[in-house]
Order: sequence, then structure tokens, then C-alpha cells
Amino acid sequence: MMEIKKLLIGGEWMDGEPGVERLFSTNPATGMVNHEVAAAGAQFAAAAVASAHQACRQPGWRDMLPAERARILYRIAEGIEAHSDPMSRLQMLENGKVWKECQAQVKSAAATFRYYAGVCETLGSEVTPARGNYLSLTVYEPYGVVVAITPWNSPMTMEAQKIAPALAAGNAVILKPSEVTPSTGLLLGKIALDAGLPPGILNVLPGWGHEVGAALVAHPQVRLVSFTGGTESGRRIGQAAAAKLMPVALELGGKSPHIVFDDADLDLAVDSIAGGIFEGSGQSCVAGSRAFVQRGVYDAVLQKLVQRARAITVHLPDQAQAQMGPMASFAHRDKVASMVEQAIAAGAKAECGARAPQDQALAAGAFYLPTILTGMRNSDAIAQQEIFGPVLCLMPFDDEADLVAQANASVFGLASGIWTGSYQRAWRVARALEAGTVWINTYKQLSIATPFGGFKDSGIGREKGIQGVHLYQQAKGIFFGM
Ligand code: NAD
Repeated sequence: MMEIKKLLIGGEWMDGEPGVERLFSTNPATGMVNHEVAAAGAQFAAAAVASAHQACRQPGWRDMLPAERARILYRIAEGIEAHSDPMSRLQMLENGKVWKECQAQVKSAAATFRYYAGVCETLGSEVTPARGNYLSLTVYEPYGVVVAITPWNSPMTMEAQKIAPALAAGNAVILKPSEVTPSTGLLLGKIALDAGLPPGILNVLPGWGHEVGAALVAHPQVRLVSFTGGTESGRRIGQAAAAKLMPVALELGGKSPHIVFDDADLDLAVDSIAGGIFEGSGQSCVAGSRAFVQRGVYDAVLQKLVQRARAITVHLPDQAQAQMGPMASFAHRDKVASMVEQAIAAGAKAECGARAPQDQALAAGAFYLPTILTGMRNSDAIAQQEIFGPVLCLMPFDDEADLVAQANASVFGLASGIWTGSYQRAWRVARALEAGTVWINTYKQLSIATPFGGFKDSGIGREKGIQGVHLYQQAKGIFFGM
């Protein structure tokens, strides 16, 4: 009999909601079903909200001193580390990330809980300047029930990034993980209960976005939604939130420019461009999917990049030699392949890749080779739409003004990278780029201490850092007449 993983409401492990289609956790490297997962629908969404609403009003959580909440967060961090192998394995089996990347993400999730435990202990209220005969204070209070909705590409890090600050702020959380990767969130729910988090403060509801996800967003007792995922889903969630005047944090898609000026260290830049697009099979919101290279060094960079891309070992993600695993699902791999075919039909040239590997060991999996496309304009569909796969659009530019205009000609504004030997130019271009993050002579350097989020269609709000905890709190002014 196949294992069926249960969902978590109010500290109880439950079978799926009757009438709701179960989830089949599938290994994209082999096509085999890993296990089934109980799914929630609208009724279980309402039950989880009721449970979370009650739990966060209990003195045991509401009046818990920040130092005590921090102790629980530290214990969750330890629990995550103690479960490093099973957690990494669950993610690898569900989204195909290579083993060492899964292990690094477990470490990062634990570090996120530790960081917010520290923030929780040190957060204070403020005495604000008096403008009369009174004492005025600003205190920060939780919203109550908050919902975290996450995508499949890096579930452990995204879930930690939302749950840790929301708990530090004193909320109760309902996690709605992606239907592709429901299992790491369930394990996190168990770790949190074992760490002493009161029942109902963290509920985990796998299920379909349009079903349980939409029901949670629309529920009147849910006071904040923190979403990471695609721009179209984010827009729908934003519209539903507007109808009930609820704040939302939206971390959405990207089409980030990775820029090489002719005075850059080309070898370092080429390594960075390859890592920026091919790590995680390009399934990263900050993937540097548009590379702009100054015309004088364009041919040299193209040649080095193609060599670099061809040298990447695409393999089963549990194999030590694997540098790139499969895409997270067959449907997604086929979508990426079809976008590449359409681009080629529209005049783009495939310099490498643009197909699945021929290795028989990989034949049953959703693999796709590192792909470099040239010959398109920045305004073409392939350079404008988010592909979310190992596909780089490489384009030349003439000068700084041309570069800034092309880089900013996108609906997205998540991240960007600049390679140059001139710090003056790096500063000028960094300030001119419309992006929530700019990397200079590095790429994909992320820190839990630095706020992260998007400009334009890449999102609303900032996660991480101290702002990451204020996202889950509302300010209250208190005045004492003197
Ligand atoms: P998706 O938008 O399809 O799904 C994300 C989550 O939203 C899933 O849990 C899904 O079930 C849920 N969902 C979908 N429709 C919903 C609705 N109407 N109401 C409530 N919930 C709903 O995204 P995906 O395919 O899982 O992930 C890939 C996307 O995520 C890419 O666009 C990528 O750029 C983006 N992403 C962004 C960041 C970031 O930090 N900016 C990070 C990772 C991924």
C-alpha cells in the first residue's frame, strides 16, 4: 500500500477532505509516484482558520514573552538540522533539485528560524517624540491569522522565510504549500509541534491553489496573505485581497538582466552567468535569464558560455556528479521546451541545448539541457516572458544608455547583475536599474538579513531582514495623558 501523508490542523494529523482530489507526489527524475498526500478544500480551510484564530487568542501564545517564542524558534531550527537528510530527500524527490543544493537549503531554512529568534528577542516598541503634555508610544502587534502560500522551486527556504517571521511576530500561520512539493511543509509542521509550538499556531494544508488556496485568501478571518509564486496567481490573490481590504506580500516572477561590460573579468562573469541561469535548472525567481554583453566582448563571452554550458553534468539528482537535475515536473519541462521551439520558429538561434538529453539513464525523467539562445530582440516574447527553466537569452548592447533602456524594458523588476571593473559605472547602473536587488561582480548572493522583493510586476512588499518581521505586524499608537 502506498503511504498517504496526512495534513495538519490544530495539532491533529488528518486524512484529506472528502470530495477533494488527493495529491500524488511524483519524482520528476524518474516519473515514479513517491507517495500520496491528503488534500484540503474549502471546508478544511475554514476549519484551519477557526483553529488558528482560537489558538492565537489563547494566553499560552498571545501572552508568551518574546524570549519564550524565540526559544521555540531556536528549537525549530535545531529540529530542521536534525532532520536534514529526510527533509533534503523529500525536496529532492519532489522537485528534482540536486542533493547538495537540497542540503544547503535545509541549512538556510534553519538559519532563517535562528535569525528570527534573534529578531524576536530584540524587537522593541518606540517612545515617539511628544508634541504636547502626553507620552506617546508605538507598539507592534500581530495580525492574528496569516496565510503563507508557497511555490515548488525552493519550498523549504520559502516556507521558513514566511513562517519564522510570522511566528516571531506572534501570529498563527496556515501554510498552503505547492501541490508539486507538499511534503517538506508537512515535516516542518511536525518539527514545530515537537519543538513545543502550541497546536493550531502552525497548520499545514496541502491542496490545489484554486481550491484551498483561494478559500484561505477569501476567508474573512485571514488578515494577511504572504504569497510567493507566479505573477498571474499573485495578481488574482491581490485582487481577492483588495476586495476584503487585506494587506498582501507578493513575491512574484522575474526576467532578470545579467550584464557584462567590456572591462569586466570575463571568466568570472561567464561563470556567474552560467550559475545564474543553470543552477536549479533555471527554476529560480532570480535566474539571470537575460544576459546583456557589451558588443566588443560579445563573441568571446558567447564562445566561453557555450563551452561552460556544454560542460554541465545533467544527471539524476541523487548522483554525486549531478550539477543539474530534472525540471520539477513533466508539464513544466514540456512548457519550457515549447517556449524554446516557438522562439526558434520566430528566428532565434539555439547555440546549445534546446532539447532533452539523450542519456538512457535519464529517459524517464523531466530533463532538459542547458540552453543558450541568441538572435532575438529584447522585445521578443522569449526575452519578455518568464521561462523558469535553463534557458538563457543572450543579447549584445552598445553603451550604458542602450543597456539601461533594454534592461529596464521588461514588466518584471526582481533582480539584476552587473560585471564591470569600474565602481563608478557599477554605482550609476545599479541606481538606474529597476530591480529590487542588484548584484555587482557577484550573483544570487542572498542574505536573510537583507530585505528582498520586486519592483513592478515582480511583487509588492519586502521579506527578510527586520522588515520581514514588521511585514507580519501592525503598528498601534498609545497615548498617556500627563
Ligand atoms: P504558482 O503561482 O502557480 O503557484 C504558487 C502557489 O500559489 C501554489 O501553492 C499554488 O497552489 C498557489 N495558488 C495558485 N493559484 C492560487 C489562487 N488563485 N489562490 C491561492 N493560491 C493559489 O507558481 P509556481 O508555478 O508554483 O512557482 C513558480 C513561480 O513562482 C515563478 O513565476 C517564479 O518566478 C515565482 N517565484 C517567485 C519567487 C520570489 O521570491 N519572487 C521565488 C520563487 C518563485
